[in-house]
Formats: sequence, structure tokens, C-alpha cells
Amino acid sequence: MRDTDEKGKNKRGSDRTSKAEPAPSLDFVRTIVEEDLRTNKYGGRVHTRFPPEPNGYLHIGHAKAIWLSFGVATEYGGLYNLRFDDTNPSKEEVEYVNSIQEDIRWLGFDWGDRLHYASDYFEQLYEYALQLIKAGKAYVDSLSADETREYRGTLTEPGRNSPYRTRSIEENLDLFQRMRAGEFEDGAHVLRAKIDMASPNIIMRDPVLYRILRATHHRTGDKWCIYPLYDFTHCLSDSIEGITHSICTLEFENNRELYDWVLDELNVYHPQQIEFARLNLNYTVISKRKLLQLVEEGYVSGWDDPRMPTLSGLRRRGYTPESLRNFCSLIGVAKANSIVDVAMLEYSIREDLNKRAPRVLGVLRPLRVVIDNYPEDQVEELEAINNPEDSSMGTRKVPFSRVLYIEREDFREDPPRKFFRLAPGREVRLRYAYYITCVDVVKDEKTGEVIELHCTYDPETRGGWAPDGRKVKGTLHWVSAAHALEAEVRQYDRLFVKANPMEGDADFKTHLNPNSLETLTSCRVEPSLAGAAPGSRYQFERQGYFCVDSVDSSPEKLVFNRTVALRDSWAKIERAQKK
Ligand code: ATP
Ligand code: MG
Repeated sequence: MRDTDEKGKNKRGSDRTSKAEPAPSLDFVRTIVEEDLRTNKYGGRVHTRFPPEPNGYLHIGHAKAIWLSFGVATEYGGLYNLRFDDTNPSKEEVEYVNSIQEDIRWLGFDWGDRLHYASDYFEQLYEYALQLIKAGKAYVDSLSADETREYRGTLTEPGRNSPYRTRSIEENLDLFQRMRAGEFEDGAHVLRAKIDMASPNIIMRDPVLYRILRATHHRTGDKWCIYPLYDFTHCLSDSIEGITHSICTLEFENNRELYDWVLDELNVYHPQQIEFARLNLNYTVISKRKLLQLVEEGYVSGWDDPRMPTLSGLRRRGYTPESLRNFCSLIGVAKANSIVDVAMLEYSIREDLNKRAPRVLGVLRPLRVVIDNYPEDQVEELEAINNPEDSSMGTRKVPFSRVLYIEREDFREDPPRKFFRLAPGREVRLRYAYYITCVDVVKDEKTGEVIELHCTYDPETRGGWAPDGRKVKGTLHWVSAAHALEAEVRQYDRLFVKANPMEGDADFKTHLNPNSLETLTSCRVEPSLAGAAPGSRYQFERQGYFCVDSVDSSPEKLVFNRTVALRDSWAKIERAQKK
């Protein structure tokens, strides 16, 4: 596994071990692999693959599949391949091929020179198809699509044999070769496996292996007008690549019978398919097809919208590859489907960023504060701690002056019970600075809105503590008005209001959260953030974790995405009090 940790800001050295990911426990997949190693089933080899179809961006479910397949290979000293399952030219694009590679590298895996495309095997797959025909195990069928459906039968009724099923081997060979040569219209014929139209497993009722499709392929161009189907392609690609454990999700359980049938009939090297439960998360949808709808219909700004459960969205939101791998490890691998609480994902990024994100002061909704007894032209550079969790991250200076901004919600004219922040006549601590006391409130004459506070400071409390030992209950973050940088902050909430948007009859998009994005345009952040690199991550003290937006942020105007809030927000406390 490569270490894609953002280097640069803080050299962590000895801290590495505290960040180490927990060793995955022996789940059922790893148990199988260990047993196969013990019995020398594949000559001591472990070789896995991840086979994405390049028809969309990767999502967090794929991260789990990658973490499992590539992680298992890594742990047992094996190899892993990245293979594009590119057999459906009408839906596939080079944009997706590139994004998938970028996302997997970012996640921390390097497939070296083992990048493959199912389309590289088209010639060989065609030869295998001829071999099946010659063995009497495949035939060219000429039923219409509707007839095919009708002949297939149902879960309770067996299917019926197609009248074309008895075509001779010679006729099948001739027709299949002419299919390839482009003599027939799309859909005129298909090549089917000759298995059993009465099989209780519908997949085994003479599945289609090849179809005629005139579509330009992103790699093979117009070379082919017949394309192999997934079930035929996948097992043989695994076999060609010498895969040992072909790990996939549960919905392929019924396909395993066909996987095994094809490899057995052709008498070729035979990997073991193993199915695990796919990852489902609440308050989102994890399916390329549905995510594509959100993109195409403009519900989000793109595949990398920070609200999307895609790897590019999570990355832009501020998630680290380590936090995602850790998440996969935490939720484990199971044989039964379940829905994981998105709070687990948020937990894993908080854990990670708590250890390594530098703390800074940022005010999201500024309220002007004038310190009446502070000298007009004076500026002090006060020392602030970069990360209390990690002293090696050091300190920085933050400027303090007569006019400051504090958070609007940190002041209440009529403070409720247990509100320990600023209020008329009350003294609080400004983080790293001084104790201040509110002496006057200026309001907008028309609206009555509080627009400015006047305070006094106690020069004896520099650094934020009082020599006479007097205590204050509230500590506020702040920035110096003359020094602060303007910033835009985008705060995100869940994309859907319903835990399972797929439940019920309504279209899943009717459950979209209309308030999933809140844009705050007049935020102020401390000057040390000038030039903050796109993608860099910070904790805004008392607010949460934020990441410099990699698309819209510029040196002129910083744009931050809120990755995740801190746990104990006042809003939650207040809500709890009301109950
Ligand atoms: P989607 O349903 O989002 O379109 P897919 O399964 O069609 O996904 P593929 O590109 O075919 O997407 O997936 C590549 C691999 O990723 C497959 O082996 C599949 O089993 C796995 N995978 C897809 N979704 C998940 C998920 N939610 N959890 C775990 N693995 C997944
Ligand atoms: Mg698929």
C-alpha cells in the first residue's frame, strides 16, 4: 500500500504508529484465503482483481471492494490487478477510465503494471466462444427479444427450448462467424450457452454470451460489432489473468454457477468466486446509475460535488484516504446485507483529522467587537497551539488588535440558562488572547439587529488566564478584523432526508434534502491561512473540520468545504435541553 498521506506541513515521524490502521480481523474472506494458503490450493499464490465497469465514478461501496480485494492481496504478499470490465461500449467513457484510476491511486493502492481491460481479451474470448460451439455447448439463437423473454419462463415455471437450439455445430459456427463479420443487423442473432432451460437458477437457462451491437468502443473503436456479455467475459478474464480469489458482491451469487460452468466446459484455469455483502450507507444512494441521475439532472454540481458518496466527492469534501480505509476496516466484511450508519464514516474522519489537522481560528458569521480600552494602533502577535494532540506540530502567531470579529451566535443579549458565552456585562476568554467583558451593544436602528459589541479587555490576562485566578466559563474564537482574510464556507448536510431513500414507491429524488448545502459568503479566517493549498485540511476551533476547496478556492478568495462538524455543537446541546 502506498502512503498517500499529505506530506509537507507537519513531519510526523514517531507519530506514525499512533496513526496505524487497526489490523483487519480475520473475516470470512481472509479465512478462506488463509485456508487456501495452508492447503497450497493455488501454489501459495494470492492474486485478486478489482473489475470496475467504466460507466461512472467510483463510490464508497467501490472503496470497500478495493480495500478488500487489494488489501487481502497486500496482506498475504500477493498481487492485485485493476481490470476495466469494458464490454458495454454504449455506456462507457474514457473520462470514467481516468477518474477510476485517479481515485484508486488516491485511496492508496498501486496496481503497478497490472492494468488490464476486458477488451484486450476480445480476440481470445471469441476463440473460446468458437470452442464452446464446437463442443456443442453454445448455439446461435434468432428469437426476438420478446420471444426470448417469453421462452425464459419464470421463477416458478421452467423455460422452453428455442426452436434454434438444435442448429448444427456447422450452422452455428457459420452464423457466429458471420455475426462477427457484420452480416446481420443489431439484435438479429445472439450466441447462447446450451445449458438447461429448466434450471431453477434462471441465469443458467441458456444465458446469452454474445450480442450484435454496432457501437464505437473507447479502445477497440469499430473493430467489433459483436460484444461478449459480462458473465462470459468476467470468469474468463479472471482465468486468463491467473486470479486466485475473485471477490465480488452478493448479487453475483447466482452467477457463480455460470462462472463455474464456463470455466469447466472450456477446461481452463479456474479461480474461486467469493461473494460478500455490498456496502450500503444511510441518507445517501450508492449506485452509479442513481448518482448519474443526480449529476445529469443537476441536483448536484457534478460527480465530485462534496455531498456525493463518490470518492471524488468525499476527497473534495476533505475525507482522507486513511479515514476511508479505516472505515472499511471498522465496518468489516459480512455475508449478509445491512445498512451502515453514515455516523461511522464521520467518526472515522474526525478521528483522523483530530490527530493531524492544524487548528486555526475562523469565524463563520462575523460580529464586530471593538475593545474600547485597547490602543488604536497596537497589534500583538499572540502564540497559538497548532494541535494540542500533537506537540510536534508546534505553534504559530495570530495577530490581535482593537477591532475583532467573533461568532454571531457566541453573543446573546438575553442568555438562556447554560449559555456561557458573551452577554452584556459578562466576561469571557478569547482563545490565546485576553479576558474581555461586554460593556455595550450597538443595534441597527431599523431592524434591531445587533451589529457591534463594545468590550473592555483586562491587560493582565494575556495568553488567556488571569493571575488572580478568576475563572470564566466561556472561551471564544475570534479574528482580528484588519488582519483576517475573507472566505466562503460551504456547509453540508445529508443529501437525503430519508434514511433509506430507496424505500417506498416514490422516486428516490423526492427525498433529497433541500438544505443539504448552505453557503456562507462573508466568513473571516486568521491570516496564517493566506495561500492555503487546495485540499489542505484544518480544524476551525469549535466549528469542525474544513478543507480548502480544490475547484473554486483561489488566493483572492478562499473557499472552504466543511468536512464534518465537531460533535458537541451548541445547537445539539440546546436541542437536548428542550427535550
Ligand atoms: P453500481 O451498482 O454502483 O453501478 P456496480 O457493481 O455496477 O456498481 P462495477 O463497476 O461493476 O459497479 O463494480 C466493480 C466492483 O465493485 C464489483 O465487483 C462490485 O461487486 C463492487 N461493488 C459495487 N458496489 C459495491 C458496494 N456498494 N459495496 C461493495 N462493493 C461494491
Ligand atoms: Mg456492475
